[in-house]
Amino acid sequence: MKTILTGLRPTGNLHLGHYFGACQNYLKMQDDYEFYLEIADVQALTDHFNDPMKVRQNVYEITMDLLSIGLDPKKVNFFIQSKIPEIAELTVFYSNLVTVARLERNPTVKSEIAQKKELFGHHGESITYGFLGYPVSQAADITAFSGELVPVGDDQLPLLEQCREIVRKFNSIYGNTLKEPQQVLSNITRVKGLDGNEKMGKSLGNAIFLVDSEEEIQKKIMNAKTDPQKIKKEDPANPDICMVYYYHQLVNKENVSTVCSECKKGHRGCVACKRELIQAMNDFLHPIKEKRKYYEQHPEIVKEILETGTNTAKKKAEETIKKVKSAMKIDY
Ligand code: ATP
Ligand code: MG
Repeated sequence: MKTILTGLRPTGNLHLGHYFGACQNYLKMQDDYEFYLEIADVQALTDHFNDPMKVRQNVYEITMDLLSIGLDPKKVNFFIQSKIPEIAELTVFYSNLVTVARLERNPTVKSEIAQKKELFGHHGESITYGFLGYPVSQAADITAFSGELVPVGDDQLPLLEQCREIVRKFNSIYGNTLKEPQQVLSNITRVKGLDGNEKMGKSLGNAIFLVDSEEEIQKKIMNAKTDPQKIKKEDPANPDICMVYYYHQLVNKENVSTVCSECKKGHRGCVACKRELIQAMNDFLHPIKEKRKYYEQHPEIVKEILETGTNTAKKKAEETIKKVKSAMKIDY
C-alpha cells in the first residue's frame, strides 16, 4: 500500500480553495492508501510565531473542518506536527543540503514574501530564518512518513520539487534511504479568490470558508468581483472575468451552462445571478455544517482522533529517523 502525506497550516478554517484544490483528492484517496494528514502547527508558527493562540485554536478548528467534509479518522491518521520531534531533527539534517540562494529562488517562497510585503508593508520585508527554511521542514514532513503521494494545490509544486532535490542529495551522499514524493493534483489546481486574485488563501482575506454563516456568504458573494464593463442589467458580460460565474462552476454545476449563456447575452442581471449563487453555495455547505455540529459538541472526540493519529504517525517517523541516522553515521 502506498503512503500519502499531506498537510494544512492551522492558520484559519478550510475554504473553497482547500476543498476543491486539495481535499477532494483526500476524500477520493482515503480508502486505498496509508494516509497521514499533518496539522502543520510548526510551519504555521514560521509566520505566526507572535500569535500562538491563533495557531493552537486553529489546530482544532481545521481538524473539525476536515472531519466535517467526510474524512474518516479510521482511515486517515490526523496528527499534530509539533508532537513529532523527529520532523524537527530531520529538518536540521536536511538544512545542510540546501543553499540559501536556492531557498530564496523558490517560486512559492518568493510569492509568499511578495504577498507579505503587500499585506504588511515593512513588516513583510524582514523574513526570518525559520520562514525562509520552511520548505526544508516540509521536506522533513513528507519524508518522515515515507510519503510517496502528496495531494496538494499547485502553489505547492515548487516545494515538492525542493523536497525531491533534498531526497536526491541525501541519497547520493548517504546512500539510498529516502523516497522521492510525487504530487497529486486535483482537476482544479488553484481556486481563485473573491477579489479575482489567482489564489484564494486563508491569509489573503479573499476566501469563502466552509464555516461561513449564511449572512457572511451573502455579504461576500454580493461583493465579489464581476465584469466591470457590465453596468446595466441588460448589458452583455464576460463570464470569464467574473468571480460569481467562477463559483457557479464549482457549486452550481447543473445550471452553469444557462448561467454562462444568459450572462453573455445580457439576459441575466448580476444581482439575480449572485442570489442564485448564494443559494447554491448554502446548499453545498449545509451538509458540511450539519456534520460539523457533532464535532463541535464533542471536542473530546476531536482530541482523541488527534491523539490516536499522532501516536501512529510517531511510530512511522521513529522508523525513518533510525534509518536516516544510521545512513548518516550518527546512530551511536
Ligand atoms: P496560508 O495562507 O496560511 O498559507 P492557505 O490558504 O495557503 O493558508 P495551506 O494550509 O497553506 O492554506 O494549504 C493547504 C493545502 O490547500 C495545500 O495543499 C494548498 O496547495 C491547498 N490550497 C490552499 N489554497 C488553495 C487554492 N486557492 N486553490 C487550490 N489549492 C489550495
Ligand atoms: Mg499556504
